[in-house]
Amino acid sequence: MREATELTTLLEQIDGRGYKAYNQIVGNWRFADFVLRIDYVQGDPFAEPSRVRALVAADVAALPSGAFVSPARALGTASLLASSFSKVARRASSSAGSGRSGEIQMADPGQKVLLQTAVLIDDHGAVEARFKVGLPAQGRRVSGRQAIRLLTEAVPTLVRSTLLAAAHEPDQMEAHAASNEDADALRSQLRGLGLVAFVADGAVLPRESGIDDTPLSGEGIVPFDAPPSLRVEVDLPNAGSITGMGIPVGVTLVVGGGFHGKSTLLRALEAGVYNHKPGDGRERVVSRWDTVKVRTEDGRSIAGVDISSYIDNLPFGKTTKAFSTQNASGSTSQAATIVEACEAGAGVLLVDEDTSATNFMIRDRRMQELVPKAGEPITPFVDRVRSLYEVDDTSCVLVMGGSGDYIEVADTILRMHDYLPEDVSSEARAVAEAHPTGRRAEGGPPQADPAPRTIQPGSVDPRRGRRASYVRVPDGRTLLFGTERIDLAAVDQLVSRAQMRAVGHALAYIGEHLLGAGTTVANVLDRLDDVIRREGLDALDTRQVGDLAAYRRFELAAALNRLRTLRVE
Ligand code: ADP
Ligand code: MG
Repeated sequence: MREATELTTLLEQIDGRGYKAYNQIVGNWRFADFVLRIDYVQGDPFAEPSRVRALVAADVAALPSGAFVSPARALGTASLLASSFSKVARRASSSAGSGRSGEIQMADPGQKVLLQTAVLIDDHGAVEARFKVGLPAQGRRVSGRQAIRLLTEAVPTLVRSTLLAAAHEPDQMEAHAASNEDADALRSQLRGLGLVAFVADGAVLPRESGIDDTPLSGEGIVPFDAPPSLRVEVDLPNAGSITGMGIPVGVTLVVGGGFHGKSTLLRALEAGVYNHKPGDGRERVVSRWDTVKVRTEDGRSIAGVDISSYIDNLPFGKTTKAFSTQNASGSTSQAATIVEACEAGAGVLLVDEDTSATNFMIRDRRMQELVPKAGEPITPFVDRVRSLYEVDDTSCVLVMGGSGDYIEVADTILRMHDYLPEDVSSEARAVAEAHPTGRRAEGGPPQADPAPRTIQPGSVDPRRGRRASYVRVPDGRTLLFGTERIDLAAVDQLVSRAQMRAVGHALAYIGEHLLGAGTTVANVLDRLDDVIRREGLDALDTRQVGDLAAYRRFELAAALNRLRTLRVE
């Protein structure tokens, strides 16, 4: 390992030379309190910045053992360090020449606490931070003086002010570790309590805006308060005993007037598959890990999905046992998304009327009369949601303020009023008895479970030109994979670009290593889960990059299912 002083000398020597001279600084450099590892130097000052790491030994980081004693605690702490590093890095970035000269960047983890590769803490408390720096240039020539300032002053100051225990309030550090441990413990209790989700009393569910995941600020925020009949008490390792609303397994219907907070509650459940950092408002709002939001998405592609339980007898006898299209309708897309979620192992579905196809959700008495079932391919969800639970053990929470037809099929009925839930299960049953709709269930018994889909080798191809694997995430909704563009805007539980990148690399892994005769969709999801459990996220990109975050098998399945080249048997 070379000393930091040699780095200074070397940078002085290459000052003014062509940009390629920066290649000489690849390697490890020993600073007083950390090691700077330069993994990869960018080809020119306008390219994606260079990849570097800071390795801080455990005795230097001096984290209290509570900060990393368990994986859940280490993750909470790592998330705090990453968020602090990325914020300070933004301020420490300076424009030090042409192109990206002087930039320092790390992905901000945001409100969610996800396993990620930006900051890692090992079992002994050593800290590794992975980030990018724009090596300074004047035009295309090495700017040695600026590089010395960046690498031997700005970066060390950044490391010291964010990655060491001394840089943080001890209370704050403990809060991040404890809160993440509590959230995991809470989620792991749900099944035993017969619940699909838990929303703590006092939780703050509304967000600042549709594009801002931070809590709503200002006046008039109504903290969550459980209805007495659904209030449960749980014990957490750090917070001790807490209370909140438990949503039982089965079919849960959320009703209420427009603007009373129905969708906000559902979105909190959707986000509850992930943990949130202290101060988010949703730290103790958790859903079972296998909860999947399903919605309509016309225009998506579908590859050989058996949607016959929902849609059958299409005009001209087109089969729906293995339904494929490059341009799905609202109802076919929603049906396929449900079947795919179940194929991937979903145990809880979330459905919001705001993002559903009406003809998929309801078909009332008058329509049954006017358009007899023989002329209607769709069996609405209202006639399937019970068997989903009773036969397949898949629960459902659905928001439906616009139709009372779901009252008969729901086990629990919540009414949102002024942003607070009331348990109106018995009241709703009385209403249903007093005002029968005369609606007949239709569609008959559900079809047998769909046959496993086998992926055709070659239909998941990460190659592009001379590259063996091409994965890019140009924006928050698009994944570029090989020569394909996958639109992920409607996959609501994909929450960061780091996650999308990981999903892209996982698809590449599938295409490169897992496809053979008879490989099913479920097989590849299991195999990828195994690989990541054994080797961590770095298995997805052997360069050990810092911009990956953990996804669930449902998000990977969602991307695979939206790949327009996918072919199945
Ligand atoms: P609905 O789905 O019932 O029509 P939304 O969930 O979309 O209603 O909520 C309507 C508005 O109320 C949103 O702007 C949301 O941010 C706000 N809101 C929701 N819950 C709360 C709350 N607990 N406190 C304050 N504002 C809230
Ligand atoms: Mg709504």
